[in-house]
Amino acid sequence: MLTDRIFNFNPGPAVLPLEVLEEAQKELLNFQNTGMSVLEISHRSKPFIAVSSEAEANLKELLGVGDNYKVLFLQGGASTQFSMIPMNFLPKGRTADYVVTGSFADKAHKEAAIIGNTHIAASSKDNEYRNIPKFADIHLSDNPAYVHITSNNTIYGTEWAELPTFGNVPLIADMSSDILSRQFDANNYALIYAGAQKNLGPSGVTVVIIREDMLAKCPKDIPTMLRYSIHAEKDSMYNTPPTFSIYLLNLVLKWVKAQGGVAALEKINQQKAKLIYDCIDQNPDFYRGHAEKGSRSLMNITLRLPSEELEKAFIAEATKAGLGGVKGHRSVGGLRFSIYNAMPVAGCQALSDFMTQFQRKNG
Ligand SMILES: *Cc1c(COP(=O)(O)O)cnc(C)c1O
Repeated sequence: MLTDRIFNFNPGPAVLPLEVLEEAQKELLNFQNTGMSVLEISHRSKPFIAVSSEAEANLKELLGVGDNYKVLFLQGGASTQFSMIPMNFLPKGRTADYVVTGSFADKAHKEAAIIGNTHIAASSKDNEYRNIPKFADIHLSDNPAYVHITSNNTIYGTEWAELPTFGNVPLIADMSSDILSRQFDANNYALIYAGAQKNLGPSGVTVVIIREDMLAKCPKDIPTMLRYSIHAEKDSMYNTPPTFSIYLLNLVLKWVKAQGGVAALEKINQQKAKLIYDCIDQNPDFYRGHAEKGSRSLMNITLRLPSEELEKAFIAEATKAGLGGVKGHRSVGGLRFSIYNAMPVAGCQALSDFMTQFQRKNG
């Protein structure tokens, strides 16, 4: 069984820890002696409410946020957050500021522009999204309603080396592809959101970590399902939540804790990324990294080869060697290696060995 599994470098949905899948498999038919699968029980049943509150507590503990934060389990993906955020927090007459560092940041900004006034505080579009802007190059509007950033740019392979703060302006971050991969001060944020399918679990659930003072700002004249305050009031059970996704998310959170938490995973993630960036830096004419060095992502590594033929050969041979999901996103082309928390060091070592061999043969 185990030998059938490849090293999975897919960007999302992505690799999950083997221990988590095994645990889910073990208790799939009879969840906690209920005689039913977790897929078959009510979201309002005691055993499921316990799962949901445990997931909230585990996430708060791992992020180190206090009781003034609420965790919500929503649907519609991170993409629905692009519009929910301005619907709730961008009133008429105010402006919302966006730092545009990639495709998802651009989409977030475009959705907000449908709802109200926006301002692009900085953008790296003219540099093909190869870098994260310097703090000094971020120019906020007068008294913005909030500032939105994307901590890791999944498609372009860039990540904020140091996360910014903007005084009292509410800071909102899309952390879909790097939440729990490294330490940071989550208490600086008014709202953090993440589609689970990159670094937290399966698709189907979107995690929102929201500071309580923001809940008071939610207007009453927007549809109920799009109001954060309702989901907070009802503990994410205003309607049926994605129960199986929340259950798996909780297993992943328990797994993160068992690994030693975010600090321990950050060290491993640095070691993993170094194995691959070293290959790029040793052969920069062959492995042409997309991100500028100071903006490199620990989670998604993007690169081109000297020709599209070589890129095709790389993908085909890597797949044969049990290294899957290495094809780049169409907007960058080439290769992308997604090495989320659940990717073991052995996977990055195998990829690094493969890269060295491939370059020797074809370089
Ligand atoms: C994948 C991704 C999204 C989109 O997530 P969906 O859940 O598919 O809507 C948004 N932002 C970032 C940074 C992502 O990586």
